[in-house]
Amino acid sequence: MADPASRPAPVHAESGMAPPASSPSAAEPRRGFTSTLKGRAATQPEPRHEEVELEETLRPAALEDFVGQTRVIANLRTSLSAAQARAEPIDHCLFCGPPGLGKTTLAHILARELGAQLRATSGPALEKAGDLAGLLTNLRQGDILFIDEIHRLRPVVEEYLYPAMEDFSLDILIDSGPSARSIHIPLARFTLVGATTRQGLLTSPLRSRFGMVHRLDFYEPAELVGIVQRSARILGVPLEDEAALEIASRSRGTARVANRLLKWARDFAQVEGSGRIDRALARAALAALQVDEVGLDEMDGRILRTLIEKFEGGPVGLNTLAVAVGEDPGTLEEVHEPFLIQRGFLRRTPRGREATPSAYAHLGRKPERTQSTLF
Ligand code: ADP
Repeated sequence: MADPASRPAPVHAESGMAPPASSPSAAEPRRGFTSTLKGRAATQPEPRHEEVELEETLRPAALEDFVGQTRVIANLRTSLSAAQARAEPIDHCLFCGPPGLGKTTLAHILARELGAQLRATSGPALEKAGDLAGLLTNLRQGDILFIDEIHRLRPVVEEYLYPAMEDFSLDILIDSGPSARSIHIPLARFTLVGATTRQGLLTSPLRSRFGMVHRLDFYEPAELVGIVQRSARILGVPLEDEAALEIASRSRGTARVANRLLKWARDFAQVEGSGRIDRALARAALAALQVDEVGLDEMDGRILRTLIEKFEGGPVGLNTLAVAVGEDPGTLEEVHEPFLIQRGFLRRTPRGREATPSAYAHLGRKPERTQSTLF
């Protein structure tokens, strides 16, 4: 139980309560929308504006439809059965990992498996403590409150989450001045499901209030094959096994990118071929998007070439590298680096970013000097 003395000042009722956002996309416009899929747009793991509807169609609705992430799924099954046996809501749960791996999908699946209602919002959408109070007081027993990008919660809002998560209560300040009084509102026992791409930015008081923390990893090509085959069945697209592997291996380990490349290949097949996606067609479709054999896009290539050509392979600081490639440091760190590191093309060292021998090999270059792994 939280120490009442450590509770934040109560929410002021006059600060206004925003209506709950029905989804993260409703709460905040998705970024990354461009009119063509060429180049970087194809491999960005963030959802594109026009993809929201397609994503809903392809979103697995049950745990058994969810491909991969076997450890996370096994642990969720355990929590679900235990909670269901006790007829209690499950513990607050945090999903971490790069965008497009299935965090939102899992939140929806949890709600469905529990027969619960899901209310979705996102960290940046909750501007005032009153916005959060509005959501919390509308929750019923067992409901799931999903907060996407929870690391972007404002501190003033976050403080109110602590007693809500621990004690299922909220203190609201009525009136102001001498007649101000605080009322204590009990909340229904809800489950908070948080999603974050930056676990390191979560404050420790918030992190410690989650009963479960699940880390999602990039998918293996074989798992992505399963994902694109499932999506092809739903979309009614004839997809050959070799073509599925071709798409899977260029999808940056990301389910969202795999679905996007499949959709592009479907359109390409319709216009340039017979409608069937075979290996040759998949290769031609992906070449047209400038996605290389391992899924690197134009910006990934630029990062590696810059490191090698301008900085002798590094180490170079994030901000310097970002300026040199013309990209925002945050995007570089959140979107490009995780995949380059996972593929073994880039290393983060205390002195900065370094290109690895694999990066040289991939670009057909020879390292001119020994890498600074001595440090
Ligand atoms: P995140 O919240 O991590 O950014 P989402 O849950 O929105 O990612 O997933 C993006 C899309 O990828 C969803 O539309 C869903 O169709 C698909 N997807 C994600 N994970 C899986 C999976 N394991 N199996 C099948 N499809 C998946």
